Amino acid sequence: MEGLMMDHPLTLHYLLERAGSLFSKNEVVSRAPDMSLHRYTYGDFYRRTLQLANALRKRGVTEGTRVGTLCWNHYRHLELYFGIPAVGAVLHTLNLRLHHSQLAWIINHAEDQVVFVDRSLLPLYEQARREVHTVQHVVVLPDDGPTPDGYIDYEDLIRGEPQTLSYPTIDERAAAGMCYTSGTTGNPKGVVYTHRSIVLHTVASCTADALAVSENDTLLPVVPMFHANAWGLPFDAVLTGAKLVFPGPHLDPLSLLDLLAHERVTLTAGVPTIWLGILDLLDRNPGRWDLSALRGMVVGGSAAPPALIDGFRRRHGLRVIHAWGMTESDPLGTLARLKRHMADWDDAAKLEVLSKQGVPVPLVELRHVGDDGRVLPRDGATMGELQMRGPWVAKAYYKNPEAADRFTADGWFKTGDIVTIDEEGYIRITDRAKDVIKSGGEWISSVDLENALMGHPAVLEACVFAVAHPKWDERPLAAVVLKEGMTVSADDLRDFLAPHFAKWWLPDDFVFVDAIPRTSAGKFLKAELRDRFQNYLVKQSSARQPETPRR
Ligand code: AMP
Repeated sequence: MEGLMMDHPLTLHYLLERAGSLFSKNEVVSRAPDMSLHRYTYGDFYRRTLQLANALRKRGVTEGTRVGTLCWNHYRHLELYFGIPAVGAVLHTLNLRLHHSQLAWIINHAEDQVVFVDRSLLPLYEQARREVHTVQHVVVLPDDGPTPDGYIDYEDLIRGEPQTLSYPTIDERAAAGMCYTSGTTGNPKGVVYTHRSIVLHTVASCTADALAVSENDTLLPVVPMFHANAWGLPFDAVLTGAKLVFPGPHLDPLSLLDLLAHERVTLTAGVPTIWLGILDLLDRNPGRWDLSALRGMVVGGSAAPPALIDGFRRRHGLRVIHAWGMTESDPLGTLARLKRHMADWDDAAKLEVLSKQGVPVPLVELRHVGDDGRVLPRDGATMGELQMRGPWVAKAYYKNPEAADRFTADGWFKTGDIVTIDEEGYIRITDRAKDVIKSGGEWISSVDLENALMGHPAVLEACVFAVAHPKWDERPLAAVVLKEGMTVSADDLRDFLAPHFAKWWLPDDFVFVDAIPRTSAGKFLKAELRDRFQNYLVKQSSARQPETPRR
């Protein structure tokens, strides 16, 4: 029997119309490169976005046209988020931290025909431009001064265009957005989001046990709009009418804390490296910022160390929401929250739960699988590769048949993360498959060691990675950044870890560095440390021999 309900397509048009008609007085605030604040309303956003859509159409942008954006987080980028899909075209957010050759490769691979570039990022685009073959129009967003001659100015482009639009009829399964994953090896892989996947992801993200976004919220995405759609926050805000605050290019702890306090932000999101810096600054300046409006900081992209979660809660009364996701999943996959029967647990037990990556958000399914392809038990101890499926999980990479082996025959995506899953359904990431340390044939979790090290009062950041060892094949080495004015020795750090780990898990040495290299998304770049220290232990004639690995 056929159901008798409307088959109304899930498209981004609906979100845009909702914001325009219901929330026209709510604010969008953006910080410009010169630190000034630009303010306007969703009413202004709606009208300008429709003007943009009309202007795009005039230039031949139509269903399926790829349109690149090379922009910081700000209101014009938000207009592009909705104006491009409004005419059926595909919003392709470009990672502004990539090398220009890689940027050009991605633009050519996606076949972007139009690119929107912040004036402050024009030097980067200019470098890439020589290798770009597909782009016909470059539009400049004049963020830090007037548009130079020879480019189309964004404001000129939209000026005088109608503030109404006849939307094309779009299949909800049509492409709405594209994002390339910033892999450390091989060429980047393109993920193509559909209207349907974004709408469903948005609705699920806003539910009470996920991010609980409402019209009363003020959202500040620190995570860049090129990193998996700023984890969906711009879409969440437009659906609900929440006030939006964009930091522009200023992502240092001081500027962020000023903005969080000034705009009374309620929910913010970013990678752990951002929050490590913020916690350190807060610790050194207690009481300087009024963060009483802030109800949550979503931390994901890499593991949130327990000391970070605990430090914010104990010393500043602030809640970290630990989340896990991937570019391939729009990105939200799991989120750590306490279940009701855990309410009476002591602080240590609660922290243990909140430090895990969490349980899947509604409509996402997870399993973990052994080398032989068998699904593993949910006992909180057995490690295997995490696989996921759901309505906002990629089913293939764009024009990339070589990566077909990332998808299983029975319809799951292989995440490349090594996890345990417990009987309550909480996942815990022990490593990225490529970062796993195999010492004498046994796995050592670099994430566990890093989390523990970042609990030492003198340690600002720690990164544990595998280096070659003549006897054990690989051994862990720790790179450590100390907090300002602090000193500690390698022996101190070893003693600090010793009570919590088997002896053979302890890093063979600790190297003190000024900074840990970052990926373009702000995560620790282990590959670079591995290359730099590859022969560190081999060369050390006095390399200590660990005990025989044991289970
Ligand atoms: P990306 O697509 O660049 O966002 O990278 C996705 C990958 O980041 C995942 O497969 C994980 O390896 C890692 N990741 C994301 N969130 C977390 C988290 N909360 N804890 C540990 N790793 C994470």
